[in-house]
Amino acid sequence: MSTVPPPPALTELRQQLDKTDDEIVRLIARRLETVGSIAKAKAERSTAIRDTGREREVLARVETLANSLGISGPLTRKIFSEIIGYSVSRQVASLVDIERSHITVAYQGQPLTYNQLAAEQYVASQGLTGRFVGLASLAQVIEHLATGQADLAFLPIENTVAGSMNQVYDVLRERDLHIVGEDSFKVELCLAAMADVPLPALRRILSHPLALEQCSAFIDGLPQVQTAPFPDSRDAMRVVAESKDPTLAAIGSPEAARAHGLTILGADIGNQDEILMRYVALARAPLPVDERVLCKTSLILSTRHEKGALLRCLQALGEYGLSLTKLESRPRPNRPWEYMFFIDFEGNVVEPRVAAAVEALRSEALYLKVLGCYPAKATPLEAQASELKPVAEAGAADAASDTAPDTVPDAARGVTQAKPARMSKHYKLADRATRSADTVVRVGDLLIGGDGFVVIAGPCSVESAEMIEKTALYVHEQGAHMLRGGVFKPRTGPYAFQGLGLEGLDMLAAAGRAAGMPIVTEVMSPEQVRIVAEKSDMLQIGARNMQNFALLNAVGKVDRPVLLKRGMSSTIEEWLAAAEYILAQGNGQVVLCERGIRTFESATRNTLDLSAVVVLRERTHLPILVDPSHGTGRRAYVAPMAWAARACGAHGVCIEVHPDPDKALSDGDQSLTYPEFSSLMRGLSRVRV
Ligand code: PEP
Ligand code: MN
Repeated sequence: MSTVPPPPALTELRQQLDKTDDEIVRLIARRLETVGSIAKAKAERSTAIRDTGREREVLARVETLANSLGISGPLTRKIFSEIIGYSVSRQVASLVDIERSHITVAYQGQPLTYNQLAAEQYVASQGLTGRFVGLASLAQVIEHLATGQADLAFLPIENTVAGSMNQVYDVLRERDLHIVGEDSFKVELCLAAMADVPLPALRRILSHPLALEQCSAFIDGLPQVQTAPFPDSRDAMRVVAESKDPTLAAIGSPEAARAHGLTILGADIGNQDEILMRYVALARAPLPVDERVLCKTSLILSTRHEKGALLRCLQALGEYGLSLTKLESRPRPNRPWEYMFFIDFEGNVVEPRVAAAVEALRSEALYLKVLGCYPAKATPLEAQASELKPVAEAGAADAASDTAPDTVPDAARGVTQAKPARMSKHYKLADRATRSADTVVRVGDLLIGGDGFVVIAGPCSVESAEMIEKTALYVHEQGAHMLRGGVFKPRTGPYAFQGLGLEGLDMLAAAGRAAGMPIVTEVMSPEQVRIVAEKSDMLQIGARNMQNFALLNAVGKVDRPVLLKRGMSSTIEEWLAAAEYILAQGNGQVVLCERGIRTFESATRNTLDLSAVVVLRERTHLPILVDPSHGTGRRAYVAPMAWAARACGAHGVCIEVHPDPDKALSDGDQSLTYPEFSSLMRGLSRVRV
């Protein structure tokens, strides 16, 4: 009788298993090494990084092999999809210009919440290591990034169940930060308790309200339990662990459950099969991405106050063959019932067709800000496959726009197809050739440009709350549309009155509200722009700062109309080039203001160049105002030149008015008394145009 060999001891079997597992990990590492060599080979030729056809073949092959070995085909496919996804991320990361390999990442919340787990997943997929800093609020995360304490801020931006995170969109609008990456993260919700208790024994379930909502079907199946909302799912887990009460349970991530030594009673208990969270990585500067990487570009825009404006913007993208992956609207701050649009489309800003589309959008939109261009991840595989275009074909999309269907409205065609009659080297967005229709700029409820004529009036400087309010009420009663007043004054000498600063701005804003008029005031430095933009309806760039390029760029980045005065020794070309700085940053709401130039003539403070109005009406679509106060410097000359400005086609005038000009702290000689202003207004209404 032969003896049956005794079965191997359990420990021996486990050792065998460990060995196999180690081998699997080593094989994955070896696979990645080969992938690295492939990436290098691709870098030498201009081949697109992602070859979805090849990915499909690999998945089909391993699935067939798995089936022939009697293991689950779908499981094998799932494992390999993960491995391939990771390989692609590594290849993409090798083409992204990250200088350091260890980075600090700020996120909102505590360790082991989804935000931190997702940040870890993202950093690892970039082939980097990270230090992760969890902070209590979104504002703290942004401050950490802005002040250089973190290299990246990693923030959730949308959820496949709950939709978009509005606060993050507001940050993107307000701050000068850039999206440099995105990732999607599967939210796995599990139910955990102290011990392996039967579900009917549970009495209370704690978690974040969103998590409770996302597991409502599971909870409804336990009629005896009550739910208790908690600010943080990880805290809920902690409370369950500390309570030692076996009738308590919490919903959260399996990682948090394990960290608190809890037992998982139910895995993946969400209502939907898959809850995905989309995250964005923000940095202080944009990160260029190689042209072969499939990218998304995100931007914000405000449309013009015209019918079909949004449609024309979307057509501008369509004409360049770019596909939209997201369109979201958010209320425009301080503008009831007006909206800004957040747009994501597939394309890399280094591609000529994308650059051309963004340029077309800039001339179509009133305000545009590119938020970033980054490797696309949160996009369905098939969509990527159909949109991926080899570099050599980039020109094809341009050719396609020449055959745009006849149904495209003329105005939309004009943006991309008009061949400028005379192209200046320094400006194109401001050029009439790019846009034949007049731009109408909206300031509060007032429209500047087109057929209207506006009167902006007020003192040179805000001197007190009382004088600005009194003047506001007076000029409004006489028919003025908008209130002016300097609070940061550009004075020739440092000992002259420099303005009341932010306190004066509050006085000006209060006077504007009292009289029901929008306000305009001058900004002199980039640092003042955001704070003044919060309270003033329009920002003035003074003559002395017309070529302060840092200031022009700063006002170009905010969604506030700008009154750009002509430099006192600037040509019309230089002036339009200065306007172009603002437009090129994305702010299309620029109004030009002629205020006199320096000539040999000394009878007037400056020489008011009214011929600039007719030249500008021909060369640009932007509205043009005239300031005869600074243009002449003498009270007696102001009204006739204002009338002349209307007669020659200006869209409005800017007039200095003071309750007692002889006592004015600045520009008294050119400021009108109240009765003089009243007579100027009567004369204006008689001018025939
Ligand atoms: C002003 O408007 O008060 C002013 C200082 O104007 P400018 O920049 O045209 O001199
Ligand atoms: Mn002045």
